[in-house]
Amino acid sequence: MEILILAVVIALVAVGAISGLVVSSRKKKQLPPPQAPPSTPTITAPPTEPHVGEEAETPRDEPRRTIEEVDLPTAEEALEAPAAVEDPLVAAPPAPEIEIPEPTAGRLVRLRARLARSQNSLGKGLLTLLSREHLDEDTWEEIEETLLTADVGVMPTQELVERLRERVRVLGTRTPEELRGLLREELLTLVGTDLDRTVHTESDLDTPGIVMVVGVNGTGKTTTTGKLARVLVADGKSVVLGAADTFRAAAADQLQTWGERVGARTVRGPEAGDPASVAYDAVKEGIAEGADVVLIDTAGRLHTKTGLMDELGKVKRVVEKHGPLDEILLVLDATTGQNGLVQARVFAEVVDITGIVLTKLDGTAKGGIVVAVQRELGVPVKLIGLGEGPDDLAPFEPEAFVDALIGD
Ligand code: GDP
Repeated sequence: MEILILAVVIALVAVGAISGLVVSSRKKKQLPPPQAPPSTPTITAPPTEPHVGEEAETPRDEPRRTIEEVDLPTAEEALEAPAAVEDPLVAAPPAPEIEIPEPTAGRLVRLRARLARSQNSLGKGLLTLLSREHLDEDTWEEIEETLLTADVGVMPTQELVERLRERVRVLGTRTPEELRGLLREELLTLVGTDLDRTVHTESDLDTPGIVMVVGVNGTGKTTTTGKLARVLVADGKSVVLGAADTFRAAAADQLQTWGERVGARTVRGPEAGDPASVAYDAVKEGIAEGADVVLIDTAGRLHTKTGLMDELGKVKRVVEKHGPLDEILLVLDATTGQNGLVQARVFAEVVDITGIVLTKLDGTAKGGIVVAVQRELGVPVKLIGLGEGPDDLAPFEPEAFVDALIGD
């Protein structure tokens, strides 16, 4: 009997010890990490039934929310004030994975091969012609033609040919290296090395910087807005996107997808709704959440100039109720050549363009359009698109561009 009692006692002690171990090991797992972020006031998940001695630990029984789940509600949630505060664990759809875009420094160098592929004919063609033993009138005409075919434009072509003629004459006999150096210098002068190519995203006021992106549909406007959001996020800025292209059905979804990938909220309105009111709301949202930059994608229907002027003019006016625009970027498809120039002219009459984005320079574009469009508008090319990939947008660097033109 005594043995039996002893055995029971031993068994009870053993069970107690084991369950104690389990609890304490569970408690150990439940300990919050030292730097656990404070939960936001919107999280109101009721605590589960408290157990004596476990009050402090009980809420930790819930699965931990990730930063994304807590801080990044979807655009719809952001725009519709919730009627009742809900537990985001139950209400929110799974938060998308946030990507870390690659840094912008050195992008153009990385993408130079692509640029060079599409620009080869201009630089190489010029070098071959300039290397001829006798530079007669016919050769100079061919040089002129090469520049015109590459969309450099009439005036800049004439200027360049004049300067090249003069310098080649002074040089006399020329080595291939000398010619290359000379052409590089002259092309750089033409492209311009002292223009301010910064994309201005900082406001002088205590409000977000406001950037409006304009251009004809199909030029890559929405894609560029998305890529630019990534550039800004890579630089550590918080961004709100305004989907004011309410005319192209897919544009808002497309922009929102770009935004979600980097954790930027997209403000959108009803399809075919008023673009100006979406733009206004986007800036309002940017101010409310203390964002660094608000990027506004606009519709670019070139139906009539008056129509465009009314539309963009209104967007601009309405946005400026919040504060001045810091940058108006015109997106041009570099493969459209002269047509792109016509578009540039029309947009410049409607709004004050402060920078140009040339897209699709990875394709069949002729690099000369950079020179032509800058001349046309008196505004610098600030960014170039070199592919459909999310980080295929690079700051425009004249040296790297000219090097790509004439090859290594
Ligand atoms: P939007 O109508 O002006 O907003 O034009 P989208 O942004 O929808 O772009 C039109 C098409 O051009 C899409 O298929 C883009 O992927 C493509 N695109 C945009 N930028 C570039 C670029 O730099 N290079 C290439 N190859 N395609 C581009």
